[in-house]
Amino acid sequence: MTATPMMAQYLGIKSGYPDALLFYRMGDFYELFFEDARAAAEALGIALTHRGQHEGADIPMAGVPVHSAEGYLATLIRAGFRVAVCEQTEDPAEAKRRGGSKAVVRREVVRILTPGTLTEDALLDARASNYLAAFAEIRGDGALAWADVSTGALTVAPCPPARLAAELARLRPREVLVAEGTEHEMEAQAAEVGAALATLPRGEFDSAGAARRLSALYGTATLDGFGAFGRAELAAMGAVAAWLEATGGAARPRLKRPVRESEGASMRIDAATRRSLEIARGPEGGRAGSLLEAVDRTRTAMGARLLERRLSAPSRDLAEIAHRLDAVERLEDDGRLCDGLRETLRGVPDIERALSRLAHGRGSPRDLGAIRDGLARGSDLARLAGRAGGPVGEAAGALARPGMVLDRLDTELATEPPTTVEGSVADGVDPELDGARRLQTEGRSLVAAMQVRYAAETGIAALKLRHNAVLGYFVEVTARHAERMMAPPLSDAFIHRQTTAQAVRFTTAELSDLESRILGAADTATAIERRIFEDLRAHVVEHAEIVAVAAEALASLDVAAALAALATEEDWCRPTVDASRAFRVEGGRHPVVERALKRSGSGGFVANDCDLSGSAGAPPDVGDGGLDAGVGGACHAAQADRAVDAAPRGDGPARAWLLTGPNMGGKSTFLRQNALIAVLAQAGSFVPARSAHVGLVSQLFSRVGASDDLARGRSTFMVEMVETAAILHQADDRSLVILDEIGRGTATYDGLSIAWACFEHLHEQGARCLFATHYHEMTALADRLPGAANATLAVREHEGEVVLLHEVRPGAADRSYGVQVARLAGLPRTVVDRARSVLAALEEGSDGKPAAIVDDLPLFSAAPPEAPAPPRRSEVEARLAEIHPDGLTPREALALIYELRELLAEPRGPRPNGAGRPAPRG
Ligand code: ATP
Repeated sequence: MTATPMMAQYLGIKSGYPDALLFYRMGDFYELFFEDARAAAEALGIALTHRGQHEGADIPMAGVPVHSAEGYLATLIRAGFRVAVCEQTEDPAEAKRRGGSKAVVRREVVRILTPGTLTEDALLDARASNYLAAFAEIRGDGALAWADVSTGALTVAPCPPARLAAELARLRPREVLVAEGTEHEMEAQAAEVGAALATLPRGEFDSAGAARRLSALYGTATLDGFGAFGRAELAAMGAVAAWLEATGGAARPRLKRPVRESEGASMRIDAATRRSLEIARGPEGGRAGSLLEAVDRTRTAMGARLLERRLSAPSRDLAEIAHRLDAVERLEDDGRLCDGLRETLRGVPDIERALSRLAHGRGSPRDLGAIRDGLARGSDLARLAGRAGGPVGEAAGALARPGMVLDRLDTELATEPPTTVEGSVADGVDPELDGARRLQTEGRSLVAAMQVRYAAETGIAALKLRHNAVLGYFVEVTARHAERMMAPPLSDAFIHRQTTAQAVRFTTAELSDLESRILGAADTATAIERRIFEDLRAHVVEHAEIVAVAAEALASLDVAAALAALATEEDWCRPTVDASRAFRVEGGRHPVVERALKRSGSGGFVANDCDLSGSAGAPPDVGDGGLDAGVGGACHAAQADRAVDAAPRGDGPARAWLLTGPNMGGKSTFLRQNALIAVLAQAGSFVPARSAHVGLVSQLFSRVGASDDLARGRSTFMVEMVETAAILHQADDRSLVILDEIGRGTATYDGLSIAWACFEHLHEQGARCLFATHYHEMTALADRLPGAANATLAVREHEGEVVLLHEVRPGAADRSYGVQVARLAGLPRTVVDRARSVLAALEEGSDGKPAAIVDDLPLFSAAPPEAPAPPRRSEVEARLAEIHPDGLTPREALALIYELRELLAEPRGPRPNGAGRPAPRG
């Protein structure tokens, strides 16, 4: 059986989009067929029906109404589907004229909705960025480009493959674009951050083609004006542009000029650290329970997104940090100004996304309204903050500029523009439009007058003039009056149109004439409004740069005011951030734990000090210029590095703390709060402390708590070791490292040995480090290593009960309180008693003194032993190591076996270079 013409059209279109659900427009519905219908019915919980047959079997079908499609689309995109939207691209009447009554209306896919290319508010999270990321690798150089199509932002950065996971964890793109053939290696990385994976042919990742595509996109002859890009960077940006072209249908992709993020622009934070510190995502993967949630007081979606970007990528540019902090301080000092700004910011529309939709040709008059209202509010803010000076005054200045855009929108746009063009233009803008509107209004009153007259003339009081989409205007009477209407003299004027169960419908020449005048006026009005809307849209797009700058200024004012309000409410302080290697916090608190304690009413948070400054933490104004360079302003990360290299080194106060103390004492909390203070400070926020001095942190590492990764075949201990290895390889003297209970997942001496060696290694590397452990033996290290110190969480014992004070003090815990805490947790009494007696026996056996145990172990009794020299290789081994198996022919391989055999056969004994093989045991 051959397919019907419509089914043939459907199958033809569907074959071009095998990976997407095809939303096939039929009148007021989008219909899905075959497998698409089954998948959508299951994902959306809608009915699965069937329509006609194909190849002898029923065709499964499911559909959603066009007017409520957005909600369904959002669900499908969230579930990981891609959707190709296929519209009717000609009038059905036109199709009939073309090919008779059986003709199929022309249809085309106008857009493919993918998670990374969305622009509609209903499909997006207003307070989160929505990134499409593309990774390209050319001859070992990697680059990552990421675009937020909803705002038009495009950024690119060098990204060695080893750092890709960290970058993806920072950006959390909704979609990752890779070259065909690499999807298998990339699948797990994308899944890790919940991104959909999309592929493009390898050819689309070609740097020369990408340069051409990008030049066309930006309408420039070359990209030189945007900066110098590496080949991999070009390829990654080109892939983004190619994907936008492929999915955008007729709409040309619109992106702002690309921004190149330089190497080292932000604090490096790997995926595991980000997870453990819960910076932008909480324990459940959403915002809840994260640092971001705890600190976010922004009033606009644009501000919320900017705050997330800043917290996710704390800066390493001292001038930038100082600039942000100045803005917060200015508003923190002036509570009235801050409150005024925050009040004005309330409900400011998302002009960034509205602008992007308009630029993509997907915007509506409501988006123009959003821009008008947002800019108007911007003018109010500019008036409020115009005299503030500094960064706040600068932002106010940017908000005062868009007058020319605002003026036209103000005069031409209706007060509350709808999403359709009808009714979007204000009265008095276009005389012809006003005339057509008058005619429409008059037409309606003329219809009402006609009804009164006809009722009088026919003597049928219940006669009505009605309107529907099929008949247009008609005269309606109930069935019992039909006979009279259809007999002369009334039948001379009233022409029968339709009889329904309850009513009979007529028309008159006069009514038809009036109707065509009303319809004509409506058509005229719509055409004029469409023209004016397009004009206004073009006007706004032409001034997109001014609107975009205003949007950025709004976002930055919102963030500054939000952080100032937070600092005032929570009593936070301005940190000193400079080029030194100091890390000194007085009265620090954990923002999320403190908030949780407050909410649960379970007492206050105990503030604690931390000083990891070492000798480099001496106040910088005594010599190395660090503090001046930092707070004063124009000091860049590179300069910072030089300043630090000039900083005095050597023995002095500790830069690595060993933290011991009871379970539940607050070790993990203390570790994290200090890491979060570094993140907040470099993001440009005040910090939860009485005072804080943070020497620029270039890398932050955290390993707190244990988790397994069974899906990737890694046990808890293996995950811990993999993450620890990454830290030990990368940490340097500009890093801040927090490690919690390393080496716990194995036998005691194994674990202790690993923890011991790790601490020594970090100390050697000069990282600022907080190391929490339950191995009390390790506290002996503080005496042996010049830059190490002990700190402990204080406990009070009262009649056998432990009271956790959550206070960090110098010194080592005298012992662990695991058994007491286990008792508090409700372990059965018999078990607790038995544990106590086992512990007593163990302690007796070891003399009860941690140091004694340590000294019993020869390895720990000295400073770290020098690494043993690697064993020398035998000749056979050396020869084997030279072999490239892939390059050998079978004959060469055989010859090689003879050669090796020969080498073995040579008499043993000391070789000329002394590299004899150790004799086998036994
Ligand atoms: P364990 O060794 O068992 O992992 P820990 O020493 O790491 O424990 P945390 O997990 O940091 O302890 O803290 C346990 C709880 O103690 C926290 O959830 C919090 O409720 C409380 N707590 C921690 N630090 C403080 C503090 N400074 N002030 C008040 N309460 C605190």
